[in-house]
Amino acid sequence: MFIHQRITKILHGPDLNTIISVYGWVKTKRESKNISFLEITDGSCLQGLQIIAEHSLKNYEQDVQKLTTGVSLRVTGLLQKSPAKGQDVELIAQEVEVLGWADPSEYPLQKKKQSFDFLRSIPHLRGRTNSFGCMMRIRNRLSTLIHLFFQERGFIQLHTPIITTSDCEGAGEMFTITSLDLDNLPRHEDNRVNYSEDFFGRQAGLTVSGQLEAETYAQALGQVYTFGPTFRAENSNTSRHLAEFWMMEPEMSFCDLQGDMDIAEEMLQFLLTDIMETCSDDLALFARFIDKNLLTKLQSIIRAPFTRLTYTEAIAILQKSGRDFEFPVSWGIDLQAEHEKYLTDEIYRGPVILRDYPKGIKPFYMRVNDDGQTVAAMDILFPGLGEIIGGSQREERLDPLLDRMAECKVNPDDYQWYLDLRRFGTVPHAGFGLGFERLVLFTTGLGNIRDVIPFPRTPGSAL
Ligand code: ATP
Ligand code: MN
Repeated sequence: MFIHQRITKILHGPDLNTIISVYGWVKTKRESKNISFLEITDGSCLQGLQIIAEHSLKNYEQDVQKLTTGVSLRVTGLLQKSPAKGQDVELIAQEVEVLGWADPSEYPLQKKKQSFDFLRSIPHLRGRTNSFGCMMRIRNRLSTLIHLFFQERGFIQLHTPIITTSDCEGAGEMFTITSLDLDNLPRHEDNRVNYSEDFFGRQAGLTVSGQLEAETYAQALGQVYTFGPTFRAENSNTSRHLAEFWMMEPEMSFCDLQGDMDIAEEMLQFLLTDIMETCSDDLALFARFIDKNLLTKLQSIIRAPFTRLTYTEAIAILQKSGRDFEFPVSWGIDLQAEHEKYLTDEIYRGPVILRDYPKGIKPFYMRVNDDGQTVAAMDILFPGLGEIIGGSQREERLDPLLDRMAECKVNPDDYQWYLDLRRFGTVPHAGFGLGFERLVLFTTGLGNIRDVIPFPRTPGSAL
């Protein structure tokens, strides 16, 4: 049996002058007189392996000459130093076995560049393109790094439920799940659907955030994090919103807003520092074809501490800007993308953490500051992207929490378990949510969040 090696291993530590087998897909083929040069890739890295297939191969005419992009192969041969420019090693084929043909008149990924729009129509194949291969390797590394970062610091990973009965953000963006017969719904007298007859005996939906559940275990284990799929039925058809995305949420007991900001900043710097080293080839592709300033932009996150300012200070800066914003600026508004962009891209040219937002635009669980008007919330804004993290210190005091629930029209009866945490050994605690696809979007420099997740779900589309 010959050793089967992945191409990244072959390129980065080749066993020269040995016979090896590789498996992969044809990327390109060049033919000159009696010889074919193939580049095959196997997904382990951006680069492919050069295969020299000579006329003397027994199936040269039958198979090798008919190879086209996308055909899958096993090649066995002698690995040698390459005399030509462009690659260090090449495999001199002794056997080429076709595993699966890909009819060039039908296979949609021919060599020419394909638009991202077109690739979105073939999510089952687009993983084979260079961009999606690079994106997926970066995404994979970032996901692993998130676990590394929190595990090294003693956090316990918590699997929060996907089916839930609490709408954490209170924004009415929850997808309802039901096993009721939709053509024959049980109804109350006033025509509302009677969910007491539904599977869970009440209305349930897909989680919009694991935070509330994470809070319960933070108050048992100290520091926890949850990293899982999150669902929002938001009809905002933007390049930064998905209906299904992954969110990483740490929750820390004995932590205030300051500590929350510190750990979020440390984490982002840790992730990007590592990725610039470990995924440099993949990043280089994006720096070349997608965003010329990508590496400088990533450096801008790592290089220096993030700018920190309060919402109130930010409003003053926006008002003094003399800009004619589409959404006029006044204290109390929810900041729009144009406002955030002005701060990150024009004023500070780097990451910005805003904190202490008006309580009127934030959910019930955030801790009310001493001024009675603002809450201990923070958003981290990245240049060219906008919000990447949203977090807060949570309201740990029972009475202020009940007041906020009343103000936000949240029914305390639905949250007795949450209130129990304030009744039994309550502690100051804080946490945040990192939108994982926003992180991948920023890291790759890609322009649309639909292109940083394998199977994007957006309004009107779930291919
Ligand atoms: P935005 O204002 O951008 O809609 P948000 O305030 O609704 O964000 P949070 O509820 O604070 O966001 O969620 C935490 C993080 O999850 C955000 O900082 C963002 O990175 C990410 N996020 C939120 N909504 C989406 C979405 N629909 N698709 C992808 N990521 C999202
Ligand atoms: Mn939102």
